[in-house]
Amino acid sequence: MKRFCLECDERLLGRQDKKFCSDQCRSAYHNQQNRDTRQLIRKVNKVLRRNWRILSELYNSGHTRIHRSKLEIRGFQFQYFTHEVILPDGLPYRFCYDLGYALPNNTMMQLATLEQMVLSEP
Ligand SMILES: [Zn+2]
Repeated sequence: MKRFCLECDERLLGRQDKKFCSDQCRSAYHNQQNRDTRQLIRKVNKVLRRNWRILSELYNSGHTRIHRSKLEIRGFQFQYFTHEVILPDGLPYRFCYDLGYALPNNTMMQLATLEQMVLSEP
């Protein structure tokens, strides 16, 4: 079976496990992969920071229960969060760093800080 360099598509000769025709192609390929990974990380971090800012503005203006649409119109992206804390009653809180929310009925959101979660643990 013919094999080709992953970077430049040159025909590969020699060892069966060879993936690149040269060291230059190997490092060009890995540098590109690292660049793509860094770009993805930057993109995700930007979304997480924006989500955190939205939560923080609402929380700091005194909101603890808020309609889901209030976050959506500000550009909140629900699929991005840093971690999840599940309360003993089974209600999951999704966090962006230290600020989190639960959606007990998928419409109204309950906002909370990580500090409050830790304090409420038995
Ligand atoms: Zn090559």
